[in-house]
Amino acid sequence: MENILTINNLTKKFGYLTAVKDLSFTIQKGNVYGILGPNGSGKSTTLGIVLNVVNKTNGDFHWFDGNTTTHDALKKVGAIIERPNFYPYMTAAQNLKLVCKIKGVSTEKIDEKLEVVGLLDRKNSKFRTYSLGMKQRLAIASALLNDPEILILDEPTNGLDPQGIHQIRQIIKDIAANGTTILLASHLLDEVEKVCSHVVVLRKGEKLYSGRVDEMINSYGFFELKAEKHSEL
Ligand code: ADP
Ligand code: MG
Repeated sequence: MENILTINNLTKKFGYLTAVKDLSFTIQKGNVYGILGPNGSGKSTTLGIVLNVVNKTNGDFHWFDGNTTTHDALKKVGAIIERPNFYPYMTAAQNLKLVCKIKGVSTEKIDEKLEVVGLLDRKNSKFRTYSLGMKQRLAIASALLNDPEILILDEPTNGLDPQGIHQIRQIIKDIAANGTTILLASHLLDEVEKVCSHVVVLRKGEKLYSGRVDEMINSYGFFELKAEKHSEL
């Protein structure tokens, strides 16, 4: 199996608070991984570290075979870790053209990526006319413009209505079926069960479980976790 991302004993402290504690896991090509945990469990911090926007305190991570620098590796990563942010008075297509220029990738794939997220017929609409779900789908199209090896999504369905949630989950599954590895963070067990093949369960920055989602259901740690009645988990 080809490794996409390897994390070894990663720790992140914010002052006295340990947001991520001695975390290790590996992402292998072709799977859909979830990082599952309640709010504050260290999901976004972990994603921030591997995307080079948060400095680690201890431990290590490396992308791919470990021979590429993080800077170069990130050219093969697509990520959405913030609310989608585009120019409101520009069309979807114009916004994506701009992203291509900034990323230094060809504009040839814009229509193909809009098709993947079901927005091709709305490509000439201004971003400000988009629903929240459409905005999120445009962000996914944008993150795919460089044909990434892995797509990273932080809470991809947050704030969406049931139809929007369903659409985004289906799109993630379609992208995975086309061979792109996925890593998503979610506080929703339901989301991980519906979308992911593998999961890392975090609580207070510590790993409680990692492995296949179907095996998680039978794992002792998982029931212990559910018994703690995290309403979101
Ligand atoms: P999650 O994404 O699982 O909700 P986060 O990774 O955002 O969790 O946060 C983990 C912990 O780290 C939380 O207690 C949060 O308040 C804290 N934290 C996150 N970012 C910062 C920061 N920049 N400064 C201080 N504390 C932070
Ligand atoms: Mg978060």
